[in-house]
Amino acid sequence: MEYRHLGRAGIRVSELSFGSWVTFSNQADVKAAADMMSAAYEAGVNFFDNAEVYAGGKSEEVMGAALKKLGWRRGSYLVSTKFYWGLFDTVNERNTLNRKRLLEGINGSLQRLQLEYVDLIFCHRPDPFTPIEETVWAMHNIIEQGKAFYWGTSEWAAADIVQAIEIADKHHLHKPVMEQPQYNLFERARFGKEYTRLYQEYGYGSTTWSPLASGLLSGKYNSGIPKDSRASLKSYSWLRKQMTDQDKLARVKALEPIAKELGCTLAQLSIAWCLKNPFVSTVITGASRVEQVHENMKATEVAPKLTPEIMERIDRIFGIEKEEDEE
Ligand code: NDP
Repeated sequence: MEYRHLGRAGIRVSELSFGSWVTFSNQADVKAAADMMSAAYEAGVNFFDNAEVYAGGKSEEVMGAALKKLGWRRGSYLVSTKFYWGLFDTVNERNTLNRKRLLEGINGSLQRLQLEYVDLIFCHRPDPFTPIEETVWAMHNIIEQGKAFYWGTSEWAAADIVQAIEIADKHHLHKPVMEQPQYNLFERARFGKEYTRLYQEYGYGSTTWSPLASGLLSGKYNSGIPKDSRASLKSYSWLRKQMTDQDKLARVKALEPIAKELGCTLAQLSIAWCLKNPFVSTVITGASRVEQVHENMKATEVAPKLTPEIMERIDRIFGIEKEEDEE
């Protein structure tokens, strides 16, 4: 496992990390979560991603209990959480990044995680109704209170991120240092284009999500929706449209010969492809069982095999050449 700087920040994250969306509490209890986290940690993972909204707060509870059970030295790992959607249905607690919500939100997360501090906090989505300046001050204050060390954004427009950085600069506040964008073979427009200036000029880091497009890129949906898969979960039925999209499935199938040539699985190939991007600080992987963690961690061995020629072949499968020709 290699460790990459989170952009220009001093902290380093394992190139593969592990997140709890969908899985913790819905598919994995404390024991299963601890087993998966342990498999990831053994492989060198030092960053575990979470959010207050995951499983309505229960994902943080499960991770907190798992960490307690695992008993790792606190300095050896990083934990994150994120705020925006909230857990309570009142006017100031839903879909917001207002100061009160953020300063109260962190306390709830720390309680559920049974931690004195988290390492990274994210604004999970932009809030067009709260001034960016208010959010920047609140995130700065959380860091000054010692409840987190670094803060960042998730799926914000590049222009809003630049504004946040400039506000922080002007007032000598802690700046946001990383984005959490979706990035996989199907979803690369924002990461690849919109954010380029952020990485190059502002040294922004990135913790990218859904490297397998929720499992689609593992090939498991090639002949229908397996019973024990994410898309079969009742509350994630909205994923079924994507998992049965014939155009997408054809592209996944077209990757098979490349995976075969490299002697790896489709999941490993797809995760390794994300790792090839130098602006990726860490690829957050997800898993519902320990075998998947073992398999996915080996993507680090596949990444060096992705030569420019293979990357071009992959790009052609996903229509990238065509897109550039049209510009
Ligand atoms: P993936 O796209 O990699 O999907 C993970 C899921 O795919 C697993 O839970 C499992 O589902 C299936 N899977 C994983 N590995 C394999 C394998 N080797 N073979 C077959 N199936 C496999 O990642 P996630 O969508 O889970 O995202 C990763 C993390 O990113 C999240 O946990 C979260 O921390 C973060 N995230 C952040 C978001 C944001 O807005 N900031 C949004 C979404 C995620 P199953 O077995 O159930 O089919």
